[in-house]
Amino acid sequence: MFDKEVYNLKINVNNICNLNCSYCFLEKWMKEISIDIVEKSLDFFINSKWNKKIIRIYWWEPLLSFDLLKKTIIIAHNKIKESKKDIMLTICSNWILLDIDKIEFFKKYGVYFALSYLWNRNIHNKFRKYKNWKWTYDIVRNKMVLILKYYSNDKVALAFDVHTENVGSFYKDYKEIINLWFDTINIAPIVWIKWTKSSIYEMYKNMVKVFMRVYHSIWSHNPLYLCTINRELRYWELSKNFSWNCIFFKYFELGVNGDIIFTPFWKSNKNAWNILTWINKELILCNNHNMSKCLQCSRDYSYWNNDNSVNEIINRRNLLSIKFAKLIKEKAENNIIFENYIQKAINKMPF
Ligand code: SF4
Repeated sequence: MFDKEVYNLKINVNNICNLNCSYCFLEKWMKEISIDIVEKSLDFFINSKWNKKIIRIYWWEPLLSFDLLKKTIIIAHNKIKESKKDIMLTICSNWILLDIDKIEFFKKYGVYFALSYLWNRNIHNKFRKYKNWKWTYDIVRNKMVLILKYYSNDKVALAFDVHTENVGSFYKDYKEIINLWFDTINIAPIVWIKWTKSSIYEMYKNMVKVFMRVYHSIWSHNPLYLCTINRELRYWELSKNFSWNCIFFKYFELGVNGDIIFTPFWKSNKNAWNILTWINKELILCNNHNMSKCLQCSRDYSYWNNDNSVNEIINRRNLLSIKFAKLIKEKAENNIIFENYIQKAINKMPF
């Protein structure tokens, strides 16, 4: 069972949220994951092959289940320590409920974290609201100040959400972000909206500017980072994702019921493998690296978003990341500045 090669585990600790963002595609079922499921999936994940891995606590709002989150992080932390593997523990949140006590807890367990934000006040307030429609920009901004003051710069990234409505100011906003303090961002195009040809072009144009800015910053004393370049530098694997995906190879996501899935678009009634029954039966025999050897045990895991427009942006972002990571690697062969940059980048947030 542990002959699988999985480096990336995404855990949904709950299916609840305190916000009602207008572009949110996640169904809120008011459920939480059980510790039994957390333990079993961590055992499977940590003991599968590869030493460099990442655990991502992601989707919905994990801080709403803080006791459960604490238990999950402590269990994961102990298992990682025991395994002696290099496994990053990360969390993505809207940070509405963040306070000093929670920051101290994350610090103690070396958790990396990402903050979802649209940056532009009007746009953020238009889309990211409470259920009673109250705006959230100022609240999140204050949490950001708290993070910047009390947390290690090396463990924080801004998940810069880009909508068709703020894509025009994307590069201008990026310059403000890096001037404030964040040196690491994840370019996160919003998925559940229609991207027109002109907004895709605008997005791509601005992305190239950001990538160039990051590349040129390597020569400076204040280098900048992009999570997807960090990921490529750390795992050298992103490019392979374009060829073949399998839940027993590289990446899987764990739903609150224990379903092993690829994306939260997966509905539990679609008959996913479940970590509880699957492990009990020791069902899976394959160790899959290419489609030709596929035992056809997986189901239709490819479902993402029927609208291809956002996939085009994500693919372009990933291809740029591969290209720039390759360039940085080549430069590092005979340039110590680039070599040092890689050493830093592989320990930054690699979303
Ligand atoms: S914070 Fe995230 S999970 Fe919550 S409503 Fe907004 S997009 Fe959805």
